[in-house]
Amino acid sequence: MTTWRAHRLEELPPYLFVEIDRRKREAIAAGRDVIDFGVGDPDQPTPGFIVDRMADAIRRPGNHRYALGVGGSEFRTAVADFFVRRFGVKLDPKTEVVALLGSKEGIGHLPTAVVNPGETVLIPDPGYPVYTAGTIFAGGKCHTMSLRESNGWLPVLGDVPAEVRRTAKLMFLNYPNNPTTACAPLSFFEEAVAFAREHHILIAQDAAYSEVYFDPDHPPPSILQVEGAKDVAVEFHSLSKTFNMTGWRVGFAVGNADALAALAKVKNNLDSGIFGAVQEAGVEALTGIRRAEVLAHIGPDGTYRRRRDVLIAGLRESGWSVASPQATFYVWAKCPGGLDSLTVASRVLDDADVVLIPGIGFGRCGEGYVRIALTVDESRTAKAVERIARLKW
Ligand SMILES: *Cc1c(COP(=O)(O)O)cnc(C)c1O
Repeated sequence: MTTWRAHRLEELPPYLFVEIDRRKREAIAAGRDVIDFGVGDPDQPTPGFIVDRMADAIRRPGNHRYALGVGGSEFRTAVADFFVRRFGVKLDPKTEVVALLGSKEGIGHLPTAVVNPGETVLIPDPGYPVYTAGTIFAGGKCHTMSLRESNGWLPVLGDVPAEVRRTAKLMFLNYPNNPTTACAPLSFFEEAVAFAREHHILIAQDAAYSEVYFDPDHPPPSILQVEGAKDVAVEFHSLSKTFNMTGWRVGFAVGNADALAALAKVKNNLDSGIFGAVQEAGVEALTGIRRAEVLAHIGPDGTYRRRRDVLIAGLRESGWSVASPQATFYVWAKCPGGLDSLTVASRVLDDADVVLIPGIGFGRCGEGYVRIALTVDESRTAKAVERIARLKW
């Protein structure tokens, strides 16, 4: 039989959750009370003031037409204002800000914009799968950088072999990190910028979780706070996780104007901009980020912190070794009994009706860990912890 599938699809890494997915659906179909910590998607609604702005904006006929280009000037100015307030970094809204249909879209398209076929892209392992997929679609070569707990889940840049440095064009970083929850200190970003400058590599730092952090005195930095970073770096931001807006599809990229112009060129040939009403809602979100409704979940005493504390305390009591995350809405827990992550996730599903994500799904260096998303309410989280505590490893 003829297949219509292009060869490049065969190059994508296999999807490792097939088996877990199948068993989860079976359990639900069998009427078992499954508690799902799998999906990295906020369970709470978008704050009301953002929805209200959307409701007004949707009635404006001007918003019903193509919103061509990479974001209206109001949206891009709101991003620049947010960046000054939050990071003390000045951006030119015309050339250093590009609006995205969610940051995943921009991350996926960036290699097409900046990487030539055969050039190498440095990709963290474990990591968000889009870095690899975008690289493969662009004809680039993936070189993984191992992240290890012993190095704070930061890549050791000195370990990148000399011949790889020569052909490398792009390096993905992601802090605060999914799945490990690690944060990068500004000193690491300084090191990365120096490395990128020396080897002529563009850095793409994924900051989707920059606003989901627990200690108000230590907000995660932007790579653009590093002197001269704009010469070699772009940073991706998202409204999805900060404002419970995953379904709205809005994010942005900031930084190096030349790389962003290349990304804009790809986008202008493929999409026709973000719905104007969504852009208006995005402006409202970015200017209202300190409002109580937003802080109710990401704030210092918010929902995620309470869930985190219930989960961490419960797991530790039952003998799990688990660090309390400083950012993101995940917990990255070491597998009990030295078991592998698929075994642990299967047992927890079969015997406790609880869904966790095996770390191996994020790459080889994720083996030995499971990811638990804080997207389940406090009482169900407590219930899940009780069930897990009954398991013997
Ligand atoms: C969720 C996520 C994103 C993408 O979010 P969008 O909804 O596309 O803005 C990007 N990077 C990481 C690491 C994520 O977890």
